[in-house]
Amino acid sequence: MAVGPVLRMPVALAEPQRARRTTDAPAEQRLVSTAFATVSADLLERAEAAGGEAQEVLEAQSMMAMDPTLVDDVNARIDAGSTGERAVFDAFAEFAASLIELGGYLAERAADLHDVAQRVIAVLRGVPAPGLPESLTPYILVARDLAPADTVLLDPLKVLALVTRDGGPTSHTAILARSLLLPAVVGVEGAEDLLDGAMIIVDAATGRITVAPGPDELAAAEDRLRALAAEQHIELAPGALRDGEALPLLANLGSSADCAQAVRLGAEGVGLFRTEFLFLDSLAAPTVAEQQAQYTAVLAAFPGQKVVVRCLDAGADKPLKFLHGGPEENPALGLRGLRALRANEEVLRDQLTALAGAERATSAELWVMAPMVTDLVETRYFVDLARELGIRVAGVMAEIPSLALMADQVVRACDFVSIGTNDLTQYTMAADRMLGSVASYQDPWHPAVLRLVKLIGDAGTGAGTPVGVCGEAASDPLLAVVLVGLGATSLSMTAAALADVRAELLRYTRLEAAQLASRVLGASSAAEARTLARDFVTN
Ligand code: PEP
Ligand code: MG
Repeated sequence: MAVGPVLRMPVALAEPQRARRTTDAPAEQRLVSTAFATVSADLLERAEAAGGEAQEVLEAQSMMAMDPTLVDDVNARIDAGSTGERAVFDAFAEFAASLIELGGYLAERAADLHDVAQRVIAVLRGVPAPGLPESLTPYILVARDLAPADTVLLDPLKVLALVTRDGGPTSHTAILARSLLLPAVVGVEGAEDLLDGAMIIVDAATGRITVAPGPDELAAAEDRLRALAAEQHIELAPGALRDGEALPLLANLGSSADCAQAVRLGAEGVGLFRTEFLFLDSLAAPTVAEQQAQYTAVLAAFPGQKVVVRCLDAGADKPLKFLHGGPEENPALGLRGLRALRANEEVLRDQLTALAGAERATSAELWVMAPMVTDLVETRYFVDLARELGIRVAGVMAEIPSLALMADQVVRACDFVSIGTNDLTQYTMAADRMLGSVASYQDPWHPAVLRLVKLIGDAGTGAGTPVGVCGEAASDPLLAVVLVGLGATSLSMTAAALADVRAELLRYTRLEAAQLASRVLGASSAAEARTLARDFVTN
C-alpha cells in the first residue's frame, strides 16, 4: 500500500515528419542550437546530482549533446531543407547506426544517443522529455504502460507505487514491480485521467485506487501502513510441509542486485533467474565474458545452493534487439523463447558456455532451463546442446499446453521441469497477459490450468523428475498448497511472497495438499475453485 502524489509518465514522442522546412535556415539552426545547449546543461546538472556510475553516463550524454560533428551534421541537414526536429532525428539515427555497426561498447552507447535526440526534440516541441519523470520528492508513477526496460530503472526510494492503465497481473511490469517490493495496480481504467500532483491511495492487495481521499480514508491508510510495517517479521526456516517433508522455497530474480534481498527474505536458492532482463537495452548480443561475469555474480550469492537459470526468453513484451526476427502480428504466438534461440543458435551457445563457466567459478549448483518449450523434440534439442556445452543439469519450462500434454515423454528426456504458470495460463485461456481487458481470464486458479499442472506433476512423480513451479501462481499461499498437491516439488516466487507461502505450507501434510488439489480440480471456474479451496481449509 502507498499514499502519495501522482506523477505521470510522459508519452513517447511521435517521429518528426519528413515535411520540408518553411522557416529560414539560420533561425531554425539557432533554435536547435539553444535546444542542444539546454539539454546538455540539464544532463550535466543531473549528472552532478546523481553521483556514482550514473554520473559518468549522464556526463557522457551531456557531451553528446555538444558534439561538434553531430551539430555540424544537423546544421547541414537544415541547410538542405530539413526541419530542425527531423534534422536532429536523422543525424542522431545515422550516428547511432554507425555505432551499432562497430559493435561492443560503442554499440551500447547508441541507446544513449537516441535518448539525447529525444530530449532535444522534446525541447524543440516544448513538451516533457520522454522516459521516467524526474522528481526530487517521492511520487506514485502513473503510466499508460511501462516497458520492462523502464521498470528496471525505477528507484524504489523515489517511486512509492505504480499504477498503469494496461497490463495484466502477470505482465512483466507487474512482476518487476513486485521484485522491487513496489505496490503496483495494473489494468486501471481511466488511469490516464489522473492529474500530476493529485493525492491517491494505492492498495495493491485489493487492486483499488482512491483518488483525492478524505481525512478519514487517509488516516485509515496510514494506520494500515503502520500495521504492515509492524508485521515485517521474517521467519527464515526452510520451506516444509506439516509432516516435515522439505518443500524448497526459491526466489525469482531478474538481476544480481536482487540477490541480497532474496537471501535476506529466506530464499533457499533461485528457482528462476530471468536472464533476458539483463539485456533489455543491449543492441548487440552480449559476449561470453560479459555474461559469465553477470551469472557468476548471481551464483556467488548462493554458495552450495540451487540456482535455476533460464536461457534468454525474448519476444512478446520482452523484445531483445539482437534476437529480433522482424514484426509479428501476434508476438505472444511468435518466434519467442526457445524458438528465437534456435533461430540464433550462436546466441544460445554463447549463453550456455558462459553459464557453464560461471558454475565452474562458484560453488552453487547450477540448473539451466529453456523457455517456451513445445514438446519432446525441442526438449531433446535443448538438453543435448546444454550437455555438449558443459551444463550438468538441463531442464525445460512448461508454459505451453502442448508441453503439458506431452509431459510423460518430456520428463524422461530432461533433468527437471519448471512450470511457468503465467504463460501456461495465457495460452490455456487464450488471453494475452498484457491486456487489461482480458485480465480476468489470466487466473491460474482456473481448473483448466490446474488440470494441465496435474499432467506435468503426475508425469514428474512417475519418472522421478523434479517439477518446480516458478510462475506467479506459486506466490499465492493457498494456490501454492494446491500446486504441491498436484505434484510440485519446489516453488519459486518473488522474494516478497516467501514468508506467507512458507507459513501456509506448514499447515498441511502432503496427503492434505493432494486432497485439496483433487477437490479444486472438480470446479468449473476459477472463482468456484477458490471457494472450494477456502471451504476445504475451514472445514
Ligand atoms: C511464466 O510464464 O510463468 C514464467 C515464469 O515466465 P515469464 O513470466 O518470465 O514469462
Ligand atoms: Mg513465461
